[in-house]
Amino acid sequence: MDLGIRGKTAIVCASSKGLGKGCAQALAEAGVNLVLNARGAEALEATATEIRSAHQVQVATVAGDITSDEGQAAVLAAAREMGGGVVDILVNNAGGPPPGMWSDWEKEDWLKALNSNMLTPIALIKAVLPGMIEKKWGRVVNITSQSVKSPIPVLGLSNAARAGLTGYVAGTSRQVAQHGVVMNNLLPGAHDTDRIKSLNAAEVEKRGITMDQAMAERANAIPTKRIGTPEEFGATCAFLCSQHVGFMIGQNVLLDGGIGNTTM
Ligand code: NAP
Repeated sequence: MDLGIRGKTAIVCASSKGLGKGCAQALAEAGVNLVLNARGAEALEATATEIRSAHQVQVATVAGDITSDEGQAAVLAAAREMGGGVVDILVNNAGGPPPGMWSDWEKEDWLKALNSNMLTPIALIKAVLPGMIEKKWGRVVNITSQSVKSPIPVLGLSNAARAGLTGYVAGTSRQVAQHGVVMNNLLPGAHDTDRIKSLNAAEVEKRGITMDQAMAERANAIPTKRIGTPEEFGATCAFLCSQHVGFMIGQNVLLDGGIGNTTM
């Protein structure tokens, strides 16, 4: 399927590895020019080189913390330069908060989680919307989590911050839809990335099992009997950035292999 977005310009935040990288690769395959971002410059440059060698698209990199004002400004400036002033596509992403107990989290922990997983995407959305509205075309995809629909008790910081972003997107997507701007959220369940390994680490330590055993247990609990891949996650993201989603507004698309046991 032609996604109809060849030549558009996209920001993919937090994209040197994992799900962000999967989204960047799928957008590049669709012919989208990219601004990639992560804090670590080495992995970021390696990903950019990999994408440039596989696809005929422009790839710029911005090494910096996307949760900082400076990081956001640098990413926006690079994308505006690449896109002649306008950003067509924004994929919001950042690292997830640490696990813990409700009793662990102090105000500082809450502010950090809210900044990473709610206020940063909101700031970037606010920055790109005027250009998208003027151009009568735009796509925003926010990488959130299955925890928005089905809470993960040890990820209370994530459950709460992402629910806040989801509420914002629900309302704002309906305000901008009339201008050809489409905003949706993409909710990962367990996917094969560094993040899932770091979440498994506590289980490995507590129960004295291996990382492979922890992965196998996780996979076995999912109806697909496997965890997701960044590639299939990226393909869904690219579709949500395509011409074909003009009538899909403010939705929460769950990619969890069916582990969320709900009818709708
Ligand atoms: P990952 O494999 O650990 O990759 C994270 C990527 O984000 C890396 O490129 C990392 O590079 C970058 N990054 C992290 N913090 C950043 C920041 N402040 N500024 C700029 N870049 C940053 O993680 P992932 O699995 O792709 O997860 C992506 C998001 O989905 C996270 O919020 C995670 O909580 C959520 N999620 C993941 C899963 C899963 O199973 N994988 C499930 C549910 C939700 P640097 O470290 O160099 O900055």
